[in-house]
Amino acid sequence: MKQCKYCKENIANEAKKCKVCGEPFYFWGKVIKFTPVMSIFLAAASIWFAMIQYEYKIVAVNHAKEVVEESRIQEEVAVRTIKEMQSSNARTEELKRRYDINRETTLYELEQKLEENPDNLRTRQEILIFKSLENDKARERRLRSR
Ligand SMILES: [Zn+2]
Repeated sequence: MKQCKYCKENIANEAKKCKVCGEPFYFWGKVIKFTPVMSIFLAAASIWFAMIQYEYKIVAVNHAKEVVEESRIQEEVAVRTIKEMQSSNARTEELKRRYDINRETTLYELEQKLEENPDNLRTRQEILIFKSLENDKARERRLRSR
């Protein structure tokens, strides 16, 4: 004979279940007894896990949005840089053209312009370009006269 832990009733040794309170004495019987509790626990764990996944998803989506925004800004900067380079090339071409037509007048005009507005970086740059053109032409003349 053995004693049921729950109701203290004496039970036959080979019994699988307490005849009074229904307590199971074999492993799977105990597992089955706890199945509803386990289900609730697993359901809660699933909900918790789903919430974590959802949060991760939001974080990932926000990160992806930031990456897209960042690359959009970089693209804008690149487009602006290319446009600036193109306009600066156009300016250089225009200066070359004017240099070929009348270099004294052009240089004089540029220096007048800088005197009126000494903070104008564009005029300053144009004068530098103009002077480098002058150097290029002088070098060409020197090479030709050799
Ligand atoms: Zn019992």
